[in-house]
Amino acid sequence: MVQRRRVIQGLGMGAMASALAACGREDGASAGPQDQRRFQWRMVTTWPPNFPGLGTGATEFARRVGACSGGRLTIKVYGAEELVPAFEVFDAVANGTAEVGHGGAYYWKGKVPAASFFSTVPFGLTAQEMGGWLHYGGGLELWQEAYRPYGILPLPCGSSGTQMGGWFRKEINTLADLKGLKMRIPGLGGEVLARAGGTPVTLAGGEIFTALQTGAIDATEWVGPYNDLAFGLYKVAPYYYYPGWHEPGTTLEALVNREAFEALPEDLQNIVVTCAQSVNDQMLAEFTARNAEALRTLVEEHGVKLRPFPREVLARLHQLSLEVVEAGAASDPLYARVLQSQQDFQARSAPYLAVAEEAFLLARDQG
Ligand code: CA
Repeated sequence: MVQRRRVIQGLGMGAMASALAACGREDGASAGPQDQRRFQWRMVTTWPPNFPGLGTGATEFARRVGACSGGRLTIKVYGAEELVPAFEVFDAVANGTAEVGHGGAYYWKGKVPAASFFSTVPFGLTAQEMGGWLHYGGGLELWQEAYRPYGILPLPCGSSGTQMGGWFRKEINTLADLKGLKMRIPGLGGEVLARAGGTPVTLAGGEIFTALQTGAIDATEWVGPYNDLAFGLYKVAPYYYYPGWHEPGTTLEALVNREAFEALPEDLQNIVVTCAQSVNDQMLAEFTARNAEALRTLVEEHGVKLRPFPREVLARLHQLSLEVVEAGAASDPLYARVLQSQQDFQARSAPYLAVAEEAFLLARDQG
């Protein structure tokens, strides 16, 4: 128990201490782990194999763990369908088919009602705010509590930043254009679309292009310019809408089987935790750089029609989002606590960001 408590503390405030413990002492001397057993893990993911940013982030996590541990913990990565289908990743980690998984918490809201809050919720926290909430606002402890009944330890392990609103075969000019719209949009965003009169569809990434091409769906969101360009979605829908109101700062997760985690010596546990956090930060940096380049390519080379959602549409979606996000609280006490925690954080954070990033970006753009 003492060992576990030390590691869990390292998940939040002590990330730097964990990094030092994991990868060598501050004075440069070797930490000299006593336990030289070797471990091999399998990692199942919800992404197509090596999918840019998301899948490669999972691969990078495995690479870092192997490198930091000197090969004492190696992780073999399986793309979606290679070992289990995308939406069976959570169960595969829970039942020990794989020791670790990589995905997005909102995929599991059917099992864990509060799960969406640990990836993203409509009109919720940005990536920067998610970091604040998870590590300094009690979010990570709530996340661990939510997955504990399944024997899973969740770790933030990637961030896409603010996503895009999605690809549409027809323009969205008024609220009426959402009526009857069949759109691939998972999680709470899908529930909001349903309240606005649309039909949300859940499809794994690899199924989206064909569904949009054949007209099985009218619209889709995926991630942002970098991933959307890679999927070629511009070839089957001309209108690219922003902002991603439904995914303002999506955090990805490493799902770790607790039994497998607790079987590791403490230094390897710290390596797993620290590598996950390092990939979280690295992925956000990668998306920040690559999304900018991909957006330019989409607009200038592929003639994509970039459109802001009309103000009236966003206002209505915002209103519906609050209803949807708050609706789950009545039937699930943990959901109610997570909702309260995140809304309290957002209420404190928003006035600050308004005078910091938001005010600065406006000033820079007008300058
Ligand atoms: Ca998305």
